[in-house]
Amino acid sequence: MKKSGFTLVELLVVISIIAILLAVLMPALSKAKLQASAIICLTDVKTLSTAWFMYVGDNNGKIVGAHTWLSGPDSKAKKKNNFNVDATAVYSDSKQNLLTNWVELPQAEDGTRKDNRPHKDHEILGIQRGLLFPYVGKKIDVFHCPMDKRLLQDKKRDYGGYRSYSIAGCMDGYYFAGLRVVKKHSQIPQPSYKYVFVEEYWKSDTDGFGWNSQAWQLNPTGDSWTDPLSVAHGNKSILGFADAHGEAIRWKDKRTIAYSKDKGANSEYRNQPDNPDLKFMQERWTVLK
Ligand SMILES: [Zn+2]
Repeated sequence: MKKSGFTLVELLVVISIIAILLAVLMPALSKAKLQASAIICLTDVKTLSTAWFMYVGDNNGKIVGAHTWLSGPDSKAKKKNNFNVDATAVYSDSKQNLLTNWVELPQAEDGTRKDNRPHKDHEILGIQRGLLFPYVGKKIDVFHCPMDKRLLQDKKRDYGGYRSYSIAGCMDGYYFAGLRVVKKHSQIPQPSYKYVFVEEYWKSDTDGFGWNSQAWQLNPTGDSWTDPLSVAHGNKSILGFADAHGEAIRWKDKRTIAYSKDKGANSEYRNQPDNPDLKFMQERWTVLK
């Protein structure tokens, strides 16, 4: 009488076939995942760039502030959201003008600053109280790239690193390298050429931040990076431009990617003479004439 069921050899053959199929499919799957994440990220950056551009239209050509470190709750937003101005907030100038920023500092419900290794919820609250939040349809996901894994890596501590995008410091960020910042859209030559948003996954354990605390900075002359870009979609990063379009940029120099992996931890990798990617970013940095 013939026994029903599989022999051991048959089982082993089936298992090996499955293993081979998986080995063949996995690279294709991870590539598809990478491409999907780039599409989501590009959509995020386009949404943010459009929001940034709409803000200009609603504010007589003024661009939204990007000096997120020196920020305090904006008076209008304060009235609208009914939260307290933090007594320790730092204001932009000697006239004690309240700042107006695209995102505010990580904060507690009562507006108290929580910028030193903030909890994710404090960072999210700061984003929600920023001036661009209404312009993105109040969708918090827009501020986070799916490839930004800082929160997962720090799950036990659950601090900071939610917002994956920063604004270039030249776009009403803060004075850097002796250069003045642009305050009005009309001061930007060739808006379709000049970037506003970059991907940045700052995560230095030594500086107490672990989140993108300031604008993304660059010296438009010289051979050095200042802040690292994040290169999370293969060898590409997504940039958002001053005419509200977004683009995936493929980097050419391995040193760009190496510095990105460093996430700002060590400054020794900054000096990169003849890096075409650095030149690319320097040419597209807006310098006020
Ligand atoms: Zn991304």
